Amino acid sequence: MSLKNSKTIVIKIGSSLLVDENKKIRKKWLLSFAKDIQKLKSKNKKIIIVSSGAIALGCIKMKYNKKNLKLDKSQAVASIGQIELMNLFSNTFSKYKLNISQILLTLEDTEERRRSLNAKRTFENLFNIDFIPVVNENDTIATTEIKYGDNDRLASRVAQITNADTLVLLSDVDGLYTKNPKIFKDAKIIKKVENFNEDLKNINLKGNNEFGSGGMSTKIEAAKICQLSGCDMIIANGLYLNPIDKVIKKNNCTLFISKVSKLDARKKWIISSISPKGELVIDEGAKKALRNGKSLLAAGIKKVNGKFNKGDHIKVLDKSNKECARGLSSFSSNEIGKILGHHSKEIEKILGYTAKAEVVHKDDMVEI
Ligand code: GLU
Repeated sequence: MSLKNSKTIVIKIGSSLLVDENKKIRKKWLLSFAKDIQKLKSKNKKIIIVSSGAIALGCIKMKYNKKNLKLDKSQAVASIGQIELMNLFSNTFSKYKLNISQILLTLEDTEERRRSLNAKRTFENLFNIDFIPVVNENDTIATTEIKYGDNDRLASRVAQITNADTLVLLSDVDGLYTKNPKIFKDAKIIKKVENFNEDLKNINLKGNNEFGSGGMSTKIEAAKICQLSGCDMIIANGLYLNPIDKVIKKNNCTLFISKVSKLDARKKWIISSISPKGELVIDEGAKKALRNGKSLLAAGIKKVNGKFNKGDHIKVLDKSNKECARGLSSFSSNEIGKILGHHSKEIEKILGYTAKAEVVHKDDMVEI
């Protein structure tokens, strides 16, 4: 879907667009970006902005060097910089009579179903009263283990939760290249990605990783989440003035086309989980059953990896360890360790209490 036809658009901007190499805030650029947003809004589009920059702006205020910051200090700096960031947005966007609001999310807010639904409702209510949500990770409380750490994947999860049509990742490169264009002269931009395995087969991601603020690998991860949840994704160079207008007019970017997704909202949420807690390795018979839309039973499970609780996200792997489904487990890893290989009728006797017959119910599972 082109940006012109998209009704809900999530736009992610990286710190390098807001702050230049000399640590000066790019006010003129932000004003031109606000103008782009006003144009989109005049066409009745719902816009969400995911903006980095809390740490970068906090460092400018405190005269700290971002590179030397330890996690606990960066949390404090983010707390200082987040206000700077929102003031900057508020002052700039008000020039175009655009109302903005702030949403700070943690990994758990998107990974836990109830919390993700709460976030969805807040986004919808803000749309209803014509406010533009500006999202960032809640860096002040996120620790390494429970952190997105990059706003690329956070933005893709926001796009999935809000059922957006397109996610635009504005960064400081024109798009995805076959190699790192800063090193290799023969690097070519890939204009369109429809099939991940085919189209990305010959890409040297290692070299590509070194450029772009969040790196290319998190952008590819974001694209995978978008593709599965039926949202197109664009990687484009946002350094120019009026960056969105440029993307629409020049089309010099990489477009990841999503699969036409027939999944309902809950299943889209399941498939785009960021942090599955464990894995179940299944046999060929169970794999066939999954292909036919059946639930996963204990009898077809060969092995359980990782520690997880009932209700947690898990990956289902076939005997060659290839992911074939993703779902929510009805049992803990401990329980599965005891019942795997057994007939469903034996579960009650083994565990000593009544439990579900399916380890992953078909309604809680998405085949890949
Ligand atoms: N949340 C971080 C910040 O606002 C940025 C993360 C990223 O650059 O992707 O500073």
